[in-house]
Amino acid sequence: MKEIMGEDIIIDDTTLRDGEQSAGVVFSREEKLKIALMLDSIGVREIECGIPAMGKEEQESIRALASLGLNARLITWNRAVIEDIQASIECGIGAVDISLSVSDIMIENKLHKNRDWVKEQLKRALGFAKENGLYVSVGGEDSSRADIYFIIELMEIAREMGGDRFRFCDTLGILDPFTMYEKVSALRRVVPEMDIEVHTHNDLGMATANAIAGIRAGARFVNTTVNGLGERAGNAPLEEVVMGLKHACGMDLGIDTHRFVELSRFVAKASQRPLPDWKPVVGKRVFSHESGLHADGVLKNPSNYEGFDPAEVGLRRRLEVGKHSGRSGVIERFRELGVDVSRGEAMLMMVQVRSVSQDLKRSLNDAELLGLYKSFKVKEAA
Ligand SMILES: [Zn+2]
Repeated sequence: MKEIMGEDIIIDDTTLRDGEQSAGVVFSREEKLKIALMLDSIGVREIECGIPAMGKEEQESIRALASLGLNARLITWNRAVIEDIQASIECGIGAVDISLSVSDIMIENKLHKNRDWVKEQLKRALGFAKENGLYVSVGGEDSSRADIYFIIELMEIAREMGGDRFRFCDTLGILDPFTMYEKVSALRRVVPEMDIEVHTHNDLGMATANAIAGIRAGARFVNTTVNGLGERAGNAPLEEVVMGLKHACGMDLGIDTHRFVELSRFVAKASQRPLPDWKPVVGKRVFSHESGLHADGVLKNPSNYEGFDPAEVGLRRRLEVGKHSGRSGVIERFRELGVDVSRGEAMLMMVQVRSVSQDLKRSLNDAELLGLYKSFKVKEAA
């Protein structure tokens, strides 16, 4: 089997579908257009843009997205029913995800049906989509809990009928990366002709790891959302998957990562889901250094304590002065504020900084630092 390279991997970003599906999140049409334009401009090659069956408002948004003429392919989410697919066609869409519950748990307890019924639904919906010339991803909801032989059976049916790929969904976010790897590898081995897409959720904090494990196992498509927005604990974050593949796996997807922070902040605002400062890759303070050893190391050479250059995602390195600061950090921070502080002065001020910082329970801001310096100088003159 041919080794998969970075350029072969296609991000199918679903911020506008699974992302908006998060309880309590609604994007305006303008926000949807702007998110799609940004995703397109940074090189995301596929965008899952909504669920036409939801009604008129959603359909109009999808039509507006289709009329943007993006380079990215637009794909919609559909139940395996003709009306859903018809609604997608009417929105001017050329690619659909047709979703079917594939685990016995869901087939029996949610649908009150059996596997044969699921196969029939697939045949009917896929047949209709292919008659209409659509690109089709067959979505296996709850694939992680499904009997893998049943998934193989569905993939074989899909392949024979011209289905283009199978979406392996860890719908509940319950897999670990090792199991993900094994399952996707097995499917690749048994049905090598059909592309696999992985759709992972973050309920156990493993969405990114599982997405990457799926790719390492041979999946060529991966679902992401900006900031990891999505049902419950969310999906695999776009920025983490892209940077993880690049820096942990040496796979460059060719995405322009410099705008990740801009994109992330826009989506955080539009979704009214502010990000923690320590959010991997795009959090405001993930390149802030305070502790003496780390600040000193980073000043000697950033690669001592930074896995990648903050500029790569649109962030800046920041030295903070607080309880854990050491001398070089203090000197450098004052230099950035336009004040030359000697090593001796820095040592003396560190005592003050520690006590103020302990009282405030945080690091000191610029005004507080300058105030401290001024009072220090006054004392020194007296
Ligand atoms: Zn999902």
